[in-house]
Amino acid sequence: MTVGTTPIDTLVVGAGQAGVAMSEHLSRHGVPHLVLERARIAERWRTGRWDSLVANGPAWHDRFPGLEFAETRPDAFAPKEEVADYFVAYARKFEAPIRTGVEVTKVVRNAGREGFTVETSDGVLEARRVVVATGPFQKPVIPPIAPHNASLTQIHSADYRNPQQLPAGGVLVVGAGSSGVQIADELQRAGRNVYLSVGAHDRPPRAYRGRDFCWWLGVLGEWDAEVMKPGREHVTIAVSGARGGQTVDFRRLGHQGITLVGLTKSFDGNVVHFNADLAENIARGDENYLSLLDAADSYAVRNGLDLPAEPEARLIPSDPDCLTHPLTDLDLEQAGVTSIIWATGYATDFKWLQVDTFDEKGKPKHQRGVSSERGVYFLGLPWLSRRGSAFIWGVWHDAKHIADHIVTQRKYEAYYDTAQSHSQKPQREESVQVN
Ligand SMILES: Cc1cc2nc3c(=O)[nH]c(=O)nc-3n(C[C@H](O)[C@H](O)[C@H](O)COP(=O)(O)OP(=O)(O)OC[C@H]3O[C@@H](n4cnc5c(N)ncnc54)[C@H](O)[C@@H]3O)c2cc1C
Repeated sequence: MTVGTTPIDTLVVGAGQAGVAMSEHLSRHGVPHLVLERARIAERWRTGRWDSLVANGPAWHDRFPGLEFAETRPDAFAPKEEVADYFVAYARKFEAPIRTGVEVTKVVRNAGREGFTVETSDGVLEARRVVVATGPFQKPVIPPIAPHNASLTQIHSADYRNPQQLPAGGVLVVGAGSSGVQIADELQRAGRNVYLSVGAHDRPPRAYRGRDFCWWLGVLGEWDAEVMKPGREHVTIAVSGARGGQTVDFRRLGHQGITLVGLTKSFDGNVVHFNADLAENIARGDENYLSLLDAADSYAVRNGLDLPAEPEARLIPSDPDCLTHPLTDLDLEQAGVTSIIWATGYATDFKWLQVDTFDEKGKPKHQRGVSSERGVYFLGLPWLSRRGSAFIWGVWHDAKHIADHIVTQRKYEAYYDTAQSHSQKPQREESVQVN
């Protein structure tokens, strides 16, 4: 199939949740568009995540407004394949014009005329506008401290699938956000000796007083926070819907048998060095946990909510040995560690987007997704407009805003076209009169 030669009004690149939401809003407004996806719809939910992953939020929350999950009940957590199926079904619902298996390899602004020339794996096309919906988490990042040690298996969490994939032996999991915590837990339950390197993190309660934390963050206005608080760029959020959804409690993981260690600092031969910050990181995580309980309690009082009290949520378990006597060095060979999983996050990759809308650090310049380069839009990036922007429930609202912007711009364009034709007509009539 070729992508065609007719100029496209709006090209959407990527058919994850962001591309599907964008297509829905453009369709509602009658904006002609095409979505190009290099793999399949919601591919990252199928092949970019580990086998046992379920959504971090309950099904009533982690979805678009227009459709409920088919299998998972509202208070449960949808398995990743069902999340992918959900977006396929959603796209079908309004017959989204999505072409799969076509990669966009280059976008350049046309010189002296409007629009963009777009190179794809299936030919070249022209588009008046381009919406970049290629994901918040595109390129797995492994920090440069990773050792060059051929005897160790090292993978990023994006490539982790299940415990059987790893060679026999212990595992060091670096990073304790939602991915690292869930992977470490799964490996330990599968009988592995696991070390989990814990940095700065938030760890909201899974639920409190009968309400999921997604609900609390919603009513407390946290998902709508427009800017990240300064200094929190490296603070991860540790939540999990695994095994029915439980609060991430590092002390419990320690008692369960996982050895918690501080931030991974460096490697020296077979020895890995950790910062002496484990207790501090855990204490800050506790503070974050307790502050959400406080905010929830005060919200309940102010609004007269009749929710069951839950004093036991404030009981913090005793410190496991690994927390009272934290390791600062570990000889991986002696400890029998054969694998390292780097749950250290992702970066974006916009090499293919050769337009003038990036700052000196390569970050897109935009306001709520409307870029500084006319006709280029970004969708699905973390904090695009608010904290919820990179998540399922947030991206839909950002897509709506971008679609509104496109509709307004199309009106300006239509006015220009009409005004041009009007301004040309009288001139012709006048010249007839003069002659
Ligand atoms: C482990 C993990 C678990 C998560 N769990 C949740 C959760 O439970 N709830 C939640 O709300 N959020 C969750 N997220 C966050 C977020 O919802 C997902 O990252 C989601 O996949 C983002 O959707 P997206 O459409 O913005 O990007 P993606 O899903 O990354 O989709 C982008 C699409 O663009 C395509 N693409 C990229 N480049 C090109 C190109 N040049 N040409 C054509 N196609 C291209 C890709 O193939 C991909 O299909 C999770 C993230 C991770 C990493």
